[in-house]
Amino acid sequence: MEIDNISQKLSKTEKKLRQKQTKARYTLLKHEDIECVSYPTKSLVVANGGLGNGVSRCQLLCLVEECGLVEALLMPPNKPYSFVKYGMMEESKRAYDSLNGKEIMLEGSSQNVILYFNYVEKVPWEDMAPAVLPPGLRVIEELVSPEEERQLLDSIDWSEDEVLSNAQKSLKHRRVKHFGYEFRYDNNNVDRDRPLPGGLPDICNTLLAKCLEMEYIKQKPDQLTINQYEPGQGIPPHIDTHSAFEDEIISLSLGAEIVMDFKHPDGHAAAVMLPQRSLLVMTGESRYLWSHGITPRKFDVVQASEGQKVGALRADIGDLTLNKRRKRTSFTFRKVRRSPCNCSYPSVCDSQHKDPAPAFPDNDREASHLEEKYVHEVYEEIAQHFSSTRHSPWPRVVEFLRALPRGAVVADIGCGNGKYLAVSKDLFMFGCDRSKNLVDICGEKGFQAFMCDALSVPVRSGSCDACISIAVIHHFSTPERRLTALRELLRLLRPGGRALIYVWAMEQEYNKQKSKYLKEKRACKNKVEDLNNDAMKETDDNGCQSSVYPDEGVSQYKGRCCSVNEAVHPKLPVHTNRTSFDSQDLLVPWHLKDGTKKNAGHTKSHQSLASSANSQGLSPVFHRYYHVFCEGELELACKTLDCIKLQESYYDQGNWCVVLEKQ
Ligand code: MN
Ligand code: ZN
Repeated sequence: MEIDNISQKLSKTEKKLRQKQTKARYTLLKHEDIECVSYPTKSLVVANGGLGNGVSRCQLLCLVEECGLVEALLMPPNKPYSFVKYGMMEESKRAYDSLNGKEIMLEGSSQNVILYFNYVEKVPWEDMAPAVLPPGLRVIEELVSPEEERQLLDSIDWSEDEVLSNAQKSLKHRRVKHFGYEFRYDNNNVDRDRPLPGGLPDICNTLLAKCLEMEYIKQKPDQLTINQYEPGQGIPPHIDTHSAFEDEIISLSLGAEIVMDFKHPDGHAAAVMLPQRSLLVMTGESRYLWSHGITPRKFDVVQASEGQKVGALRADIGDLTLNKRRKRTSFTFRKVRRSPCNCSYPSVCDSQHKDPAPAFPDNDREASHLEEKYVHEVYEEIAQHFSSTRHSPWPRVVEFLRALPRGAVVADIGCGNGKYLAVSKDLFMFGCDRSKNLVDICGEKGFQAFMCDALSVPVRSGSCDACISIAVIHHFSTPERRLTALRELLRLLRPGGRALIYVWAMEQEYNKQKSKYLKEKRACKNKVEDLNNDAMKETDDNGCQSSVYPDEGVSQYKGRCCSVNEAVHPKLPVHTNRTSFDSQDLLVPWHLKDGTKKNAGHTKSHQSLASSANSQGLSPVFHRYYHVFCEGELELACKTLDCIKLQESYYDQGNWCVVLEKQ
């Protein structure tokens, strides 16, 4: 009777444990995409045993080592779970059986957590991308000696508190002092006409001289902000106002180290370790495009082992633990900006927001005018530079052309600099383009090309065996005009003739990494080909490869795709290169490189087209109009046409592509 009771009690506890364990599996799958398996493996996922819920590396390692030799312990930053990998199956089984439901006390707190162990087949660190620092960011270790650090800290007189405005009180007790100019938290800017008396403290001269000498910075800063953070205090994510300060921003960490969180607008994040006495240097993309901030908390996730203590934290090392924060004082030096910012990141630039953007076209006349100004005129101006970035033909386009029968007549409508006109000697190919300067470049290379509009090609109907239209139709600004361009292309084909069409995709890939969404999509397709071919990579800093980072972009993109952006954006938004598209209809900046500046005779329109940049001697920026296509949109447009058969559709080089056959 008594034995029965005990076993009943036991099975009740056991049942409860299994329920909790199953719940943990479900949560891991649903929220983290971690798939557990019901059969034993060498690797386990430990729910509730993560840095994100306060379990330290040392603590968890001690526990799991009781069951055997641990090959790896992976603790991803800010996650409430970890992965443990044993050398042998018996060891992982032992951990599964004896540690499930184990209660542990969190260090330095009276809180308990209960651990749940589940088997996993695959440990995510195996295919995790290494952490990267935001471009333009550097961390210089030991910029000052411990002695200089003490002198700098002693020099701060916190007693003469600044009179805080209401806005400044919202700093949540973070202590702040300003030198050179006061930073105003109400408008996040400085009062250029009211410098503070005394300038920068003399004690900073040595370290600033060193920064200049070592070329960490090019210009001497004239503004200093000193912040003091108690453990638990932070600063919300922000981008320092472009119009307020020049490119270079440097910040010295004194008294303690800190982890600073950087975030790209697409959602990609980097946690960067700033060691005590180190100098953070933010320039370029890291200063203008990425936000930075300090999460208010009492501990940071840091690398557990010595060495590699600086820079971006890597989740794939399996070497992270918790570090208690101490009081940190930062000296941030900036140079006050005297003229508007002209960076390459218009979507986050307050100086460039006021620029007049064209409105979305209401009718055909407006559409034609928009294309005239934001496609035709721009290509005339950038023709030389554009052509210099277009050398390598895309393999799948070449493949299409080379598969055509010997002697086939082929038209390249929108041929640009003619990079496809010479891929096969067996074809009779000719090209046409709306840009005279690009057609002239074709002429110089000895290609057959003439100037015309893709809406009206002066070629007899049915005279071509094949046509290609590579990255052209996305420059037409209404659905009707895009359809007209498609119809005109097909008019040229004889029955049985084939057309290959490429248009920019709203869904993009970054640094050869396809978004998760695209990976899944592609896996479903029959004609899957490896895109990670170096020969295919065309260097283009001008936005042709805009990015969606893995995992992040897709969720942002969904719900936005194919929505009527025109209603939301009466003015066309300006795209920031290497970020995901915010709208299907937009202006994409082209930064004209020095040395490839306009041809003689175009100076006048050049002046009127490029933004105010060139008046300051900087490289001028042009804006090209694009309609980026959503998945399925191109096929849908093709299906409305008579007498055609859709032979193939695929994704390639950030484009949606179709092969059509005329019936
Ligand atoms: Mn800042
Ligand atoms: Zn800017």
